Amino acid sequence: MVAEAAAEEDRSGAALKRPREEGDGGDLPELELRTYRPQRILGQGSFGKVYQACVLETGDTVAIKSIGIKALPGQCFQQLSGRNDREVQILKELSGHPNIVCLKGAFLSGVDGTEPKLNLVLEFLSDTLHRVLKHYNQMSQMMEHRYVRLYQYQLLRGLAYAHGKGIVHIDIKPQNLLLDGGSHTLKICDWGTARRMTLGGQAAAYACSRYYRAPELILGATSYTSAVDLWSAGCVFAEMLIGQPLFTGADGIKQLVEIIKVLGTPSALDLRAMNPNYPSYEFAPAVSPQPWERVLRGFAPREANELAEMLLKYDPAARLQPIQALMHRFFDALRIAEQPDHLTLFNFLHGELDWCTQQERERLIPRWYLVKHSPSTKSR
Ligand code: ADP
Repeated sequence: MVAEAAAEEDRSGAALKRPREEGDGGDLPELELRTYRPQRILGQGSFGKVYQACVLETGDTVAIKSIGIKALPGQCFQQLSGRNDREVQILKELSGHPNIVCLKGAFLSGVDGTEPKLNLVLEFLSDTLHRVLKHYNQMSQMMEHRYVRLYQYQLLRGLAYAHGKGIVHIDIKPQNLLLDGGSHTLKICDWGTARRMTLGGQAAAYACSRYYRAPELILGATSYTSAVDLWSAGCVFAEMLIGQPLFTGADGIKQLVEIIKVLGTPSALDLRAMNPNYPSYEFAPAVSPQPWERVLRGFAPREANELAEMLLKYDPAARLQPIQALMHRFFDALRIAEQPDHLTLFNFLHGELDWCTQQERERLIPRWYLVKHSPSTKSR
């Protein structure tokens, strides 16, 4: 594997020079010759490794996600397909949004007979929400509400953008939320399991990590909507507020039991909304829902309890849409006054607010921001 070979070389001071070759990744966005020196392994996912690497020509730091692919005998590489191709295509479509990890380029490695890999060159972010939450836990501290607000806003904004383009992430969890410690920017990564929404589209019921898995997926619904991401976003939100995952079932069924302990027994209507093919079932004994103030252990302000409740609904269609969630009063504190951390929250891209009414746009873009950025905002 070239990236590993390069990591080996790295110890002896050499670096991986990657010439651009004919057929090297087709229309992938890499244009210039770059040399990457792998520095350390950032993560080991189910599909390969993610390295931190230095670009020798520019001194920049990038992340390289190296994914095993199939090589065909006698040919260089099989055309990218399935998961690999999907991640590249989706990242190309979404890159440029401030809350989605940016794909800088891609290249294939393994021409020398080592295991062929597709390498995605991504912008590097120093942390993940998972690591930050773990750090708070080790210090026996809770995340300050102003950070919860900032991170949840950016997560919802990234989802609103992806969903607006018909793309569902399906595996939202703290490990897939990258953070920049300095600017407190949050970016969604790992679009490898993402899907394009199609009418009657199918998703594997085991999709999404268990603690963040929407109840319709647990109940075996195979046709899904973008609401699966809203459930996961609700779980992430609660986790930031209480300092630990909200629903922690040891298996799929126990996960549902944990959800029922909080949301109460699903009604027949809820069950039908989650999975119309699910046999009618009486959950006995019936469990009453708990008030969200209690679920969030009194740590959260009232608006936060309200937002959690609006995201964590059994009925997928009843979950608050991400753009509506951005307008929720929990985020008003971000809009109220100019703050250096808040400047990048309102730089909506052309088309990002296409689905909004004028009144909604006015709610989403604070007046102080408009005044500060009037020449560019006028052209929107
Ligand atoms: P997989 O699909 O194989 O699980 P991911 O894309 O989820 O791979 O990445 C695995 C881990 O690598 C992430 O949880 C994160 O810790 C790290 N990582 C991924 N992308 C980046 C990046 N752009 N910058 C910094 N770390 C990253």
